[in-house]
Amino acid sequence: MATQKMLKFVSTPREMPEKRSAAERSEDFHEIYREFAAQKAAEQAGRCSQCGVPYCQTHCPLHNNIPDWLRLTAEGRLEEAYRVSQSTNTFPEICGRICPQDRLCEGNCVIEQSGHGTVTIGAVEKYITDTAWENGWVTPRAPVQERSESVGIIGAGPGGLAAADMLRKQGFQVTIYDRYDRAGGLLTYGIPGFKLEKDVVMRRNKLLEDGGVEFVLNCNVGEDISFDAIRGKHDAVLIATGVYKTRDLELDNADAGGVVRAIDYLTASNKVDFGDDVPDYEDGELNANGKRVVVIGGGDTAMDCVRTAIRQGAQSVKCLYRRDRANMPGSQREVQNAEEEGVEFVWLSAPGSFSGHVTGEAAVAQEADVDGVDQVASVRIQKMRLGAPDVSGRQSPELIEGADYDEPADLVIKALGFEPEDLPKLWGVDGLEVTRWGTVKADFQTHQTSIPGVYAVGDIVRGASLVVWAIRDGREAAESIANFLTGDARVAAQ
Ligand SMILES: Cc1cc2nc3c(=O)[nH]c(=O)nc-3n(C[C@H](O)[C@H](O)[C@H](O)COP(=O)(O)OP(=O)(O)OC[C@H]3O[C@@H](n4cnc5c(N)ncnc54)[C@H](O)[C@@H]3O)c2cc1C
Ligand code: SF4
Repeated sequence: MATQKMLKFVSTPREMPEKRSAAERSEDFHEIYREFAAQKAAEQAGRCSQCGVPYCQTHCPLHNNIPDWLRLTAEGRLEEAYRVSQSTNTFPEICGRICPQDRLCEGNCVIEQSGHGTVTIGAVEKYITDTAWENGWVTPRAPVQERSESVGIIGAGPGGLAAADMLRKQGFQVTIYDRYDRAGGLLTYGIPGFKLEKDVVMRRNKLLEDGGVEFVLNCNVGEDISFDAIRGKHDAVLIATGVYKTRDLELDNADAGGVVRAIDYLTASNKVDFGDDVPDYEDGELNANGKRVVVIGGGDTAMDCVRTAIRQGAQSVKCLYRRDRANMPGSQREVQNAEEEGVEFVWLSAPGSFSGHVTGEAAVAQEADVDGVDQVASVRIQKMRLGAPDVSGRQSPELIEGADYDEPADLVIKALGFEPEDLPKLWGVDGLEVTRWGTVKADFQTHQTSIPGVYAVGDIVRGASLVVWAIRDGREAAESIANFLTGDARVAAQ
């Protein structure tokens, strides 16, 4: 019976849920894929070949029991599929939407390698838990017994939230501190709604709150409360603060008006999506409407910026990347989505300098390419070629002399990646050891830092990474913290 519903990969072609047309989706911030219909989800799940050694599971950072929940979905046993899926993943419907599946589970699907097209694992994972929400199967954690020990978590991103969920399950008292006014970290204020709608994140925050997690928002640790005060209030502390220092450009006029940081641009856009008042958006500084936009970078943040600019009604959107398409760090799926929506990629190109207008008293109403302009008007683009591989094995970009040209631009968005803030200095904690890159040093398995009782997870340990890795870290750290607080491995295993 079970086998009859599975192994359909030869007779059933791979299908993703319907994607809205580029014209339609460019007008709003809603997700671009529609939900599978029940029959379609079952059909697509039934393509799984039920491998004895499932490489998809091995390559999922959470080692999700993918073949099991695919089989249950194919058999129409969705509540059971949900139970299996959520036993290893705190936010399955979020990962189903935003994991780069082509590099993780789906990229290692055996039927993909036999030329039949991968099982649409992410889309089915999303379908299972969205269905669970619709049917009321997702309920707040109800610990069997409350415990007196308390844990303070700094940072309400996926790492901190995943740990909070596991700790509450075991009855610990959990308080999360975050400097933003809403929980969710980059799920809330980084990743745009067209990849992850905001109510999907907010309902998770509410579920945690309903399960007894206390949120202390608008609280910047190091300013509004000291790290030592948090240590004094709680029996264990988890640092899950992510990485927010923007890599910058050392170029002429890199600080001119109209040259902005990706995180500011995306945060403003997400706040507008929530319906908040955002003065920097209203006054046009962080709004691409009617502008010629140039985004610098080739990662996922750059992809989110270009596609946000399209939705804000930019006149044109160009993405500069110093390597070529095959060597870019961003997901190929996102590049394709961006191209469909009208973004132009300018490969093998890097900014050389910015020119612009001088305003105010010194106004000469003319273009200036000297340092000190007030408003950007163009980007000097340098053309590159790929040379010999560097130590990481990637081909290094080399400058092509004499091929520079000026690209007109009213808004330039710097999406060059993120680095950790200097936490020991910001928080005045000498004992907190960091690596030479500034990330917090934590044991690979227990996630304990150099300070006993203090743990760290997610991007602040790994450097800019993925949501699914932050979730894994958070879940593992919760287990270590439980062991630390109780000295009893059995509690953690409950
Ligand atoms: C634009 C963008 C798009 C991305 N797209 C994807 C994607 O499609 N798929 C994917 O898997 N990953 C994506 N990522 C990466 C992913 O978002 C991160 O890897 C993940 O969010 C890291 O989780 P975290 O919990 O470590 O940190 P974060 O999500 O960054 O959360 C950290 C939290 O700590 C808070 N905080 C920081 N310092 C303090 C302080 N001193 N006091 C109080 N609170 C503090 C912050 O306000 C924040 O809420 C993207 C990242 C960006 C920037
Ligand atoms: S969590 Fe991510 S990698 Fe794992 S199965 Fe889901 S989509 Fe794939």
